[in-house]
Amino acid sequence: MHSPSRQNPVFRFAPSPNGFLHLGHALSVLTNEQMAKEEGGRLLLRIEDIDQTRCRAEFEDEIFRDLAWLGLEFETPVRRQSQHLEEYHLALSRLEALGLVYPAFLTRGEVKAKHAAAEAKGKAWPHDPDGAPLYPPEDRQRPATERAHLLKSGLRHTLRLDMQKALSLVAKPLTFEETGDGGKGTMTADPAAWGDVVLSRSDAPSSYHLSVVVDDAAQGVTHVVRGLDLFHATSVHRLLQHLLGLPEPLYHHHRLVLGPDGRKLSKSEGSTGIAALKASGHSPADIRGLLGF
Ligand code: GLU
Repeated sequence: MHSPSRQNPVFRFAPSPNGFLHLGHALSVLTNEQMAKEEGGRLLLRIEDIDQTRCRAEFEDEIFRDLAWLGLEFETPVRRQSQHLEEYHLALSRLEALGLVYPAFLTRGEVKAKHAAAEAKGKAWPHDPDGAPLYPPEDRQRPATERAHLLKSGLRHTLRLDMQKALSLVAKPLTFEETGDGGKGTMTADPAAWGDVVLSRSDAPSSYHLSVVVDDAAQGVTHVVRGLDLFHATSVHRLLQHLLGLPEPLYHHHRLVLGPDGRKLSKSEGSTGIAALKASGHSPADIRGLLGF
């Protein structure tokens, strides 16, 4: 039913305005541009500003300036996550109705302390593919009365996906089709590796994972082209797509642009920032050349 489609190909570039664009973003948007051209598809821009604590208008303005300078044009209006909270809320309600969401009260510090205490005792603690310790089971196992009491007390919490329960609703192993540097062909998704992922927090009403699958479906995205740093996140996206009955796009995870220290570029990477390269006399053609286009 929901097989990847190559009819009416739709690609998207989805930066978060929580920093300036750098060469890694340029590689991503130019790969999208090239593939969209090859497939005869559209390339959409999406501003992923769901986390309003980190996103700033000045970053967004610079993103638009940098993309225009690189010679890229996008259809308007551009989708901004902050304008679609209702859609994410609806998706969250669907997962809640399936009994897959629970309030999680442990703070990051508390999780860290538990993790450290377990390690001190020589007990292994599982980590997610990004290296973060998995969320412990306490809140998931909390009796309903205690949960209700804590909620009533107004204690700050996030909403997490009950991964085990969610996986019990998956009849056959989830997969995704990859054409990039993550491997070629059918990949097995392993959402369990992420544990009980966050779906919503008080300061960001929808998590990256939840908003991205809702957005990709809403925009009819058929080809998700992004950096290899998000390869493993695709497992969570495939699970959410399955649970929410959303279509499955094709995936292409491209290599990352590394800094002189061999690490992936960060948003504060001054010298590889697009604006900094422009200021130091590089032309858009230079940037394309630098990245192999
Ligand atoms: N907003 C994400 C970022 O800037 C990209 C999300 C995606 O392409 O799925 O890293």
